[in-house]
Amino acid sequence: MAETPDQRHAQRMARKKTVVDGAIKRATEDRGVLLVLTGNGKGKSSSAFGMVARALGHGMQVRVYQFIKGRRDTGEEAFFDGHAGLSWEVCGEGFTWETQDRARDAEVAARGWQRAGIALADPTIDLVVLDELTYLLQYGYLDATAVYAALAARPPLQHVVVTGRAAPTALTELADTVSEVRDVKHAFRAGVRAQAGVDL
Ligand code: ATP
Ligand code: MG
Repeated sequence: MAETPDQRHAQRMARKKTVVDGAIKRATEDRGVLLVLTGNGKGKSSSAFGMVARALGHGMQVRVYQFIKGRRDTGEEAFFDGHAGLSWEVCGEGFTWETQDRARDAEVAARGWQRAGIALADPTIDLVVLDELTYLLQYGYLDATAVYAALAARPPLQHVVVTGRAAPTALTELADTVSEVRDVKHAFRAGVRAQAGVDL
């Protein structure tokens, strides 16, 4: 007698369960992971801030450094402001095409990086978000080798999330988890301006 769709589904799911259970069994290590969220599509920073919520929900210590700040009125900053276990620092002064001042941008970047470096050396910090860090590497505002060395030497259980377009290969090679958000469509190109709750 021919198999019914329900039987076929049950068999497919049983095979899948064997594969998934095997993979789960093999992943036994606990350690800090370095995540890179890159690509031209929307959803990198908001994903990192989602992890901030997750970590705070677990009572973890979180530090956020925003290296390039398009605007000062983001919902997540207002929402997380004053939350126990979190400090949120805005180290940048706007997108680089707005300031158009390389020396000043580089100086601001270096100051921000210095502050982030303190968190990256502190084993009591569980999660560090380095939002839009890739631009500082791309424009040569920071010594990339020193940045990679600090990331590699961080406390073994500390998680770090780096966001920004065009992540350098050396960074993605160092990372444990890399996601590239692809730009399929964005409402902005159809004339929709940045919307509260979506873009900020
Ligand atoms: P989000 O903060 O919404 O997660 P993001 O971090 O992936 O976005 P960025 O490159 O940091 O994206 O840009 C931040 C702002 O630019 C957001 O308001 C976002 O909606 C907008 N944006 C992101 N990608 C695009 C795109 N491909 N076209 C137009 N606007 C974009
Ligand atoms: Mg972003």
